[in-house]
Amino acid sequence: MKAKPTGQRLVLYTDLDGTLLDAQTYAYEAARPALEALRRHRALVILCSSKTRAEMEPLLRELEIHAPFIVENGGAIYLPREEFAAFAPEAEPCGAWGRLVLGVPRARLRSCLEELRRRLAVPLVAWSELTPQEIAAECGLSREEAERAKQREYDEPFRVMSDDPTVFSRMEAIVAEHGLRLTRGGRYVHLMGQTDKGRAVRVLTDILRRRFGSIFTVGIGDSENDVPMLREVALPILVRRPSGEPDPVARRLVPQARVTRGIGPIGWSEAIWRILAEAEEG
Ligand SMILES: [Mg+2]
Repeated sequence: MKAKPTGQRLVLYTDLDGTLLDAQTYAYEAARPALEALRRHRALVILCSSKTRAEMEPLLRELEIHAPFIVENGGAIYLPREEFAAFAPEAEPCGAWGRLVLGVPRARLRSCLEELRRRLAVPLVAWSELTPQEIAAECGLSREEAERAKQREYDEPFRVMSDDPTVFSRMEAIVAEHGLRLTRGGRYVHLMGQTDKGRAVRVLTDILRRRFGSIFTVGIGDSENDVPMLREVALPILVRRPSGEPDPVARRLVPQARVTRGIGPIGWSEAIWRILAEAEEG
């Protein structure tokens, strides 16, 4: 599918790690010129990631993005409060933001994780049990970034210390008894409520239609947890991973997705330039 009919506002839902940000270094310099071009086109760039609000706010400032954003794999949507007050009256005030909570609070996730440990007898390393120093070392973050990454509210990432291929499906069954779900991200398995990036994209797209009228939605990601987001947009895009290949599961589940030639933020830029060129062709 070609982007985008004239007159529609471009709405770009984008994953961060491995997509807009380099999978290892978290650098986004390669994406800067394309981000600036999006700004000139008055496109809305919606960050949609497993990151926390505390992690995303500094990034929004650095990237000079003034738009709603989706945190913790769809756990909550934050909207610039005054601009969206009339279009999302159900949002709760939260500083400069209005917040729509879609997820399940952390305490319930923790007790489910304890049960997984007991019933599977497999070592699980939970993010919340790591110190900021350990998170910093494991994820290549600064101590300050690790502190922000720990401020999770609706999502409990963990690592499974087992090579047994049946573990994931056994975990899924236990988690479902609690009305919760699992998703695989780039580095961790994430435990959360019945939310995903797709549900958040659906809710936010409705709000954006009320606010802006006709919009054209694009989604861009690199892993399996991006699949629900990619399925909710008119134009889904997969960027290649550092291996040089797109994520095989996402590729299979979203066969209509465009696949970039470049990896991470280089592929991201390539996709944006193509969309903007097509928009100009009309
Ligand atoms: Mg990613």
